[in-house]
Amino acid sequence: MPHSVMWKELTAAELRDKAQAGAIVLLPVASMEQHGPHLPVGVDTILCEAVCKAAAEAIAGETPVVVAPTLWCGLAEHHMAYGGTFTFDVPTYQTVLLAFLDSIGRHGFKRVLIVNGHGGNISALAAFLPDLVQVTGLKICATTYFELAQPEIAKILEDQDRVRHACEGETSLMMVVAPDLVRRDKLPDAHGPAHSTPRPLGVARSRSFRDFSASGVVGDARKATPEKGEKMLAACRDAIVAVLRSDEAWS
Ligand SMILES: [Zn+2]
Repeated sequence: MPHSVMWKELTAAELRDKAQAGAIVLLPVASMEQHGPHLPVGVDTILCEAVCKAAAEAIAGETPVVVAPTLWCGLAEHHMAYGGTFTFDVPTYQTVLLAFLDSIGRHGFKRVLIVNGHGGNISALAAFLPDLVQVTGLKICATTYFELAQPEIAKILEDQDRVRHACEGETSLMMVVAPDLVRRDKLPDAHGPAHSTPRPLGVARSRSFRDFSASGVVGDARKATPEKGEKMLAACRDAIVAVLRSDEAWS
């Protein structure tokens, strides 16, 4: 039986072998936060892990890889007002990430691709990266899967050119990855503004999603279909595989 690509499903000896073989570790980092009336709070965690697993399985025959356990909590202060949400503060998030990376490095792995699945983590990950590299000595790349695949996603979706929140995109993916968790009877209410917080170009703001979306949705989940979800999953998988294969990423 071929071995799983999932860290949590392997034995310690099998993971020592992976490190010995020079495996790249994918580290999914996500969130646990409200996703509108129709989706569970685990969406980012469920989708990010699924995309990483699909990419790892696609490339496992040519390059040794393993998918580390998903960090299911991130920075989600902007969703707290709805309930159901966990958040770190920034120093805690950095400390936890460092502990994960340190654990990976101490077992002999040299290369880590952090795959993020939550918009609220993006700027923090970019800010942490230099210190994470310097402290751990690991070769670390970081990406957000739906940004990486954004050019392809724009061709698949009708209403959006990128993933928003609990939207056409995320709902389509959930219809494929975890269809039983989509509350289809709630879909008629699953729509909100087309964009998140309005602001002048070049100006940063921090607001609760509650201030501009009563439903907790940004975008329109009524446009979601499993067909779009299948295409999106393939596009996200292929985009991550391309990074794993990239000489520029790992030189
Ligand atoms: Zn999400």
